[in-house]
Amino acid sequence: MEGQRAYVQPMEPILHVIGGGLAGCEAAWQAASRQIPVILHEMRPLRATPAHEGAGLAELVCSNSLRNDDLGSGIGLLHEEMRRCDSLILSVADAVKVPAGGALAVDRQAFSTEVEKRLLALPNLTLLREEVTQLPDVPAIISSGPLTSDALAVELAKATGSDHLHFFDAIAPIVTQDSIDFSKAWFQSRWDKGTGKDYINCPLSKDEYFAFVEALIAADTVEFHDWEKDTPYFEGCLPIEVMASRGAQTLAFGPMKPVGLTNPHGPNPKSYAVIQLRQDNALGTLYNMVGFQTKLKHGEQMRLFRTIPGLENAEFARLGGLHRNTFLCSPVVLDASLRLKARPNIRMAGQITGCEGYVESAAIGLLAGRFWAEEMSGQSPCLPPLETALGALLNHITSGAGADSFQPMNINFGLFPPLSALPTNIDCRATHDGPPPEGKRRKLGAKERRAAYAERALDRLGGWLRNNISEA
Ligand SMILES: Cc1cc2nc3c(=O)[nH]c(=O)nc-3n(C[C@H](O)[C@H](O)[C@H](O)COP(=O)(O)OP(=O)(O)OC[C@H]3O[C@@H](n4cnc5c(N)ncnc54)[C@H](O)[C@@H]3O)c2cc1C
Repeated sequence: MEGQRAYVQPMEPILHVIGGGLAGCEAAWQAASRQIPVILHEMRPLRATPAHEGAGLAELVCSNSLRNDDLGSGIGLLHEEMRRCDSLILSVADAVKVPAGGALAVDRQAFSTEVEKRLLALPNLTLLREEVTQLPDVPAIISSGPLTSDALAVELAKATGSDHLHFFDAIAPIVTQDSIDFSKAWFQSRWDKGTGKDYINCPLSKDEYFAFVEALIAADTVEFHDWEKDTPYFEGCLPIEVMASRGAQTLAFGPMKPVGLTNPHGPNPKSYAVIQLRQDNALGTLYNMVGFQTKLKHGEQMRLFRTIPGLENAEFARLGGLHRNTFLCSPVVLDASLRLKARPNIRMAGQITGCEGYVESAAIGLLAGRFWAEEMSGQSPCLPPLETALGALLNHITSGAGADSFQPMNINFGLFPPLSALPTNIDCRATHDGPPPEGKRRKLGAKERRAAYAERALDRLGGWLRNNISEA
């Protein structure tokens, strides 16, 4: 019938979730339990990854621990927030937990089986066992993890620009600013460039420098997995212990060079070497150790780096590492609600966004699933407040972290706005606010401070959940 348009019943929109790991399962659950039709695509067992062993959804590839369950830790707080957001991963973990002191550890087989069972019990969720090799043109979440299949990774690199998709991490430790001793360290940029105070500097005398280099070379390192053995060492980004082993003076002429800096605490004798730390997040609460990417074991890093003057009591928000790990430069390529700027019909979730860890991956899946559910129900996505663990992690990934030094990150209190800071009436829709206004910080002990972070977070989370229409 020319000139007449047939009426077509609009198709019910379907959300496609690609990757049935920690993030994908949580995302699918959050959306499907809000009545959104979901298709979950998982490539195993048809195509394997180097680390997964079975075909089950939400396989824990290594440890069976979801880490500390204590509210006084960033990860314990994230657990609690996720429980309050009806998290599938936390609910199943609680149901199949095994004794592990203060940690939340699980029977890994029971965990995977139960996650799959609860998902398949949802009438509007379909599980397809297939590898996805193209970016979809329909509403989707990509949660294909640190071992994303090659074909999909190639498509992602095309969409985001290959500079913005990494296949290995090279992580330098990050220290919380308020744990640095400024009676020894000082703020100054080399040659007073930029603001003149862009870096924190920790000085070493000649004896301290040579003792440090000797200890670096002797320290224990982590072995690569067999399938990681071709991890490339880029000359510009060598592990600090590899640089040290090339000659006793290599570091003093490299990342630890003292030139262009004047120690205000005691210019005589001059520092023989200086370790510089650069601001790592917009809040200014975290500083990364410049050039200190490393394969040293975590215990060795803490022992050795706390011998550096000014870092004796350092709290490490992240320790160094080098792994095979596919992840995006999210502060550049994602918007505030996890959409790929280049393909807004796609949200990213899980470790591929540059968070680190089972729980953090599931947490970002939880948010991506909720955001789509809200949007597909005609609402705009409601971002969690910055003072919550969910909000702090999301903010770090999408905008808070420096794009140049962006590397995978665990949840930690260094990502939160300092206590005292933010106004309470933040409008959660659309974007996060910028850094909080300067506020006076009451000096609290470490335990008291953590408890205050947790109390503030759960209070703000409660407000967010109450205001969030999709909870109704
Ligand atoms: C070897 C290794 C050990 C780790 N150990 C720990 C640890 O002990 N503790 C910890 O907290 N974190 C650990 N991590 C980090 C990280 O937390 C986990 O990898 C976590 O599983 C990430 O969750 P995810 O959902 O993002 O990815 P995954 O859980 O890996 O899920 C991604 C899923 O996507 C599927 N997939 C990939 N490509 C496609 C495709 N094209 N089409 C369809 N499906 C696809 C995969 O088969 C997989 O099931 C480890 C990582 C690695 C690589």
